[in-house]
Amino acid sequence: MYDGSRVPVFRREGYVFMTDRSQYPNKKAADEKPGISRRGLFDTISAASLAATAAALTANRASAAPSPAGAIEPIPNFKFNIENQTGWQGEGGSAKEATVAEFPISQSIAGVSMRLKPGSIRELHWHALAAEWAYMLEGRCRATVVMPNGQSEISDFGPGDTWYFPRGHGHALQGMGPGEAHFILGFDNGHFSEYGTFDITDWIATAPKNIVARSLGIPESAVAQLPKKEIYIGPGKVPEMAIEPLRDAQMQPAQSSHKYRLDMQPPRIFPGGREYIVSSKEFPIQTTLTAARMDLQPGALQELHWHPHADEWHFYVRGRARVGLFGSHSRTRVDEFGPNDVGFIPQGFGHYVEQIGDEPTEIIILFNSGVYESISLSSWLGGNPVSLLETNLLIPRSLIDQLPKRETGIIAKKA
Ligand code: MN
Ligand code: MN
Repeated sequence: MYDGSRVPVFRREGYVFMTDRSQYPNKKAADEKPGISRRGLFDTISAASLAATAAALTANRASAAPSPAGAIEPIPNFKFNIENQTGWQGEGGSAKEATVAEFPISQSIAGVSMRLKPGSIRELHWHALAAEWAYMLEGRCRATVVMPNGQSEISDFGPGDTWYFPRGHGHALQGMGPGEAHFILGFDNGHFSEYGTFDITDWIATAPKNIVARSLGIPESAVAQLPKKEIYIGPGKVPEMAIEPLRDAQMQPAQSSHKYRLDMQPPRIFPGGREYIVSSKEFPIQTTLTAARMDLQPGALQELHWHPHADEWHFYVRGRARVGLFGSHSRTRVDEFGPNDVGFIPQGFGHYVEQIGDEPTEIIILFNSGVYESISLSSWLGGNPVSLLETNLLIPRSLIDQLPKRETGIIAKKA
């Protein structure tokens, strides 16, 4: 098996694209070319890359960087409309997913748009493969979560609030009315499936009756009254507004809250907009994700930048934007996003977000790391001496003096 110690630069990107189902309907077949092992294949590419590098070193300085023929796939589609599908519909609400099945580039993050009618529940469950994050778009809901240390938390959420349930923590949601509760869920694993979660009714309905009876200390006749199949999302009655006490009055409250009010986070203000960023620094339990909200004024531009150690996932709440990616070896891809679109920017890829249209654009963003990192083109240029830029960019000092030296963040509409 490949040991990861000698990774040619293009390999990680290569992995991303090999999982694009449109390119490789059968991933296994793509990975196992006849007569050549994975290790052998990469050694071959490595050797080709070294030869190309050597050739480039002796060539004119203006020539392009080495590009191992055949190893580079174009940047795949990075946009998906999460609402434009039937998804799961029931009496109590609905769920629509954007996992790798619907959106193949999104390997590290899955999204779900979920709605709960007043009183309806997303029943008691846990996720074996992923931590769950959510941003409330509309309405109100109540969540309970039980932690492996025996602590428990119950709290209410309204628009602009977020929650984070670490992988495996048991939880349930309930719509609190008056209208529908609508929230966008994010999971730190693109292979997660909201339909494949571990629901309490599914477990109880499928475990042997005598085991359930003994485990719960009730007669088998009582077990027969429990649900006979999985509920997932089911109708219910809106509970009292005052939060009820937990059944176990001695339960310790959670010492690390699962709730963070993203919209109450003081934003970073730029001439063209603002950005609310919540990492594990602000929200300690949110160890595997950083959440953000970006508001762009009409005509604004989020400058060219990249994130060294995280993929970036977008959900468009309102307004429109054009996003451009740079994926090395002259590869670029541009797409336009609007309400209910999900976007995905692979780790390390250069990118920009250009606001389009007359109404401001609001994007909810996730990074698959609890630590936020970003490098902008401006701060990069500021962190270099003039002479190096003269030599690298082939421009006079007078023009270099006009370039920014610090992060410009979100640039305002052209005057
Ligand atoms: Mn869940
Ligand atoms: Mn970014």
